[in-house]
Amino acid sequence: MPAQIINGRKISEEIKKEVKQKKEALFNETGIVPGLAFILVGDNPASQVYVNMKGKACEELGFYSVTIKLPAQTTEDELIEKIKTLNNDSKIHGILVQLPLPSHIDEQKILQAIDPIKDVDGFHPVNVGKLVIGLDTYLPCTPAGIQELLKRSDINPSGKHVVVVGRSNIVGKPIANILLQKRDWANATVTVCHTGTRDIAYFTRQADILIVAMGKPEFIKGDMIKPGAVVIDVGVNRIDDPNVEKGYRIVGDVHFESAFEVAGAITPVPGGVGPMTIAMLMKNTLQAALNQIKVKELAN
Ligand code: NAP
Repeated sequence: MPAQIINGRKISEEIKKEVKQKKEALFNETGIVPGLAFILVGDNPASQVYVNMKGKACEELGFYSVTIKLPAQTTEDELIEKIKTLNNDSKIHGILVQLPLPSHIDEQKILQAIDPIKDVDGFHPVNVGKLVIGLDTYLPCTPAGIQELLKRSDINPSGKHVVVVGRSNIVGKPIANILLQKRDWANATVTVCHTGTRDIAYFTRQADILIVAMGKPEFIKGDMIKPGAVVIDVGVNRIDDPNVEKGYRIVGDVHFESAFEVAGAITPVPGGVGPMTIAMLMKNTLQAALNQIKVKELAN
């Protein structure tokens, strides 16, 4: 039987609607509007598209947002100064530095300059550490979106074997850490595969839930998937296709057609994990505003 399609677009719209309602309640109670600052360094076209999409989501939900565009030759110190200003700006509750940064800038140094309470991407080592030891924190948006997709599709990872392919700091490692926590909608047995893994298919075929974040177009084929498994495809890859007007199309890291015949449920690309990332960013920013209000109240 072909797989059930997990509709990330629809689920992300539900989440944004809920966040908007909570944002309006917050405004009615306190007059505070959640604010998000984007920092874009250089002119990477993909980064510009991502920042535009995130800015649009802010508009849609009525969040305050600013985009700070800096030239590619910006120095580390200049960037850190900008971040410090935003750390002290009470209208800004979340700060997002769009990655990747130009190669002369040390990404970790920059991420560590963000006040952890405004780190809505969840990349600051303090928030990464909290996630690993099971404390409440901002979860990185893409992995948080994956957990939410599972939750809202009534797929409980508890007791299941989750296989993650990819160990990046933004997807693979955090989703592995999120799903192995002794918490609701987690509590899975987690295996992480990477380029050092000898026989990827040996592991992927054992997955009840297979999460793929490799950046390799259509790498995972149907014969690498256990019948009935849940497949979450994080990949976003552009491949040439002379049959379409644009000359290219977007595919995931999973070969959709063959996986669709074997899997029990699968996320499409586009329309699966992608829209969830932005919805979770909005959720984190609302949470950041609430956290900062609480800190102020405690200080008074
Ligand atoms: P990344 O930083 O390039 O990491 C890729 C990971 O995959 C690495 O851990 C790498 O292993 C592993 N890998 C690559 N080729 C492999 C192979 N042949 N066999 C086994 N492991 C392999 O990528 P990322 O940032 O996690 O992103 C992954 C994909 O997700 C990309 O297509 C990206 O565009 C997409 N993405 C989508 C969203 C969204 O919102 N939908 C968000 C983020 C990323 P090593 O560590 O050993 O090198």
